[in-house]
Amino acid sequence: MPVSPAYRPDPRVQQLGGEFADPVAAADFPMTTLRFRNDRAAASVGLDTLTDAEWIAHFGRFEPLPGNLPQPLAQRYHGHQFRVYNPDLGDGRGFTFAQMREAGTGRLLELGTKGSGQTPWSRAGDGRLTLKGGVRELLATAMLEALGVPTSRSFSLIETGEQLTRGDEPSPTRSAVLVRLSHSHVRFGSFQRHAFFQSAERVGQLVDHVVEVYYPELADAADRPTALLQAVIGRAARLTARWMTAGFVHGVLNTDNMNITGESFDYGPYRFLPRNDPNFTAAYFDSSGLYSFGRQPETVFWNLQQLAGTFTLVTDQAGLIEALNSFGPAYRTELATALLARLGLTSRSAEADVALANAAFRGLASGGERLRWEPFFFDWFTGDEARALASLRGDIYAGEAFAEFRGLLKGFERERPERLADPYFAAAEPQELLYEEIESIWADIAERDDWTTLHAKLAAIETARTAYSLA
Ligand code: AMP
Ligand code: MG
Repeated sequence: MPVSPAYRPDPRVQQLGGEFADPVAAADFPMTTLRFRNDRAAASVGLDTLTDAEWIAHFGRFEPLPGNLPQPLAQRYHGHQFRVYNPDLGDGRGFTFAQMREAGTGRLLELGTKGSGQTPWSRAGDGRLTLKGGVRELLATAMLEALGVPTSRSFSLIETGEQLTRGDEPSPTRSAVLVRLSHSHVRFGSFQRHAFFQSAERVGQLVDHVVEVYYPELADAADRPTALLQAVIGRAARLTARWMTAGFVHGVLNTDNMNITGESFDYGPYRFLPRNDPNFTAAYFDSSGLYSFGRQPETVFWNLQQLAGTFTLVTDQAGLIEALNSFGPAYRTELATALLARLGLTSRSAEADVALANAAFRGLASGGERLRWEPFFFDWFTGDEARALASLRGDIYAGEAFAEFRGLLKGFERERPERLADPYFAAAEPQELLYEEIESIWADIAERDDWTTLHAKLAAIETARTAYSLA
């Protein structure tokens, strides 16, 4: 079957013109073997009705979708990588393939690729993605969605039959093309490129585009750039808080990896925390720990400052600075909100919420080696003390490290406690996504071409998503 009636193409990116993106062609892959299709995500944009053959034609060979972009567009952008400005960036192994409205919300979503071939921005790169990189991103997005983090979703993974050489994987290694479903492709670095060339006109054009397409509620603001920055700060505070309660270390928080809508994306060397450790670093090349777990809020703030800097070409500084000053308070509020959501509790008051959040993080910090990150949230979900004390970690919760947390918890009401009846919560351990498990899922694929472990894990993460029902 072709697209369903829910498919509503709206390729608005075309309005921006040639200074923002370049038409490109996908690589002609020697093989296109479908490894994963996300039918839940596909249904939200009317593409779940495609047959596998049609799916492969669109997401492996990139035949245009009806009424959508006639040719993919590689986006132009710059960015700060590890705080160093790099003008040699841009979509070097990906492109925007299609844009369409989300059923129900009407939001503009888009399908963008990773590993689809070379573009004018590939420089020395081959334009490809390793299959292992694709598998890792599938797992990351599934887990983040389950834990209530705003994220791009993995839409499709197709193995492409090439042999790649990489410094950080045993080579040759298998290749794949990943398609993501995202809310916008516009990065902080997209603005940075036009500011670098001192083009107030293009910064203004991009502000207008982002407001009209992604923040229509700001269309009548007297000062659009400042209103946009304020809104982006709010979304970024929420996103960061959600990472921090998911125990997620993105690993490469460069400004070209920050989406203007506050969705995280581009999961390379990410890790989920085994246990609370502010110094935990995901990327092996992050030798200074710049992007460690505990430094993510300050990193996001630094990135927001760079974005604000580009807006000085089109508006006064004073309002931008005032907006930036709101990040800290917004982040603290969002952190408490995110913690309550993860614990399945109802907000009491700003002070009480923050006090509980602080007590939870102190407990996580002093609970010792046996207390892993994810089980804490699983054991305490909806604040059922008897259940937590009966869990495998009950002795830790009964101790001094959690005395303050237990005391404060008594003042909170449980939110949708019926969720605890889900069979997911009858298990002794929750779903986690630690490094070793990902490696062993990959080993099954690499050594035996056995995909069952991956699909079983994705199904298990899905049970966590529906059980927590956070979104
Ligand atoms: P990423 O790691 O995909 O976020 O890439 C950061 C920058 O390097 C982007 O400009 C990419 O397009 C470029 N890049 C990374 N890997 C490759 C590759 N294999 N081929 C071409 N460009 C790449
Ligand atoms: Mg990137």
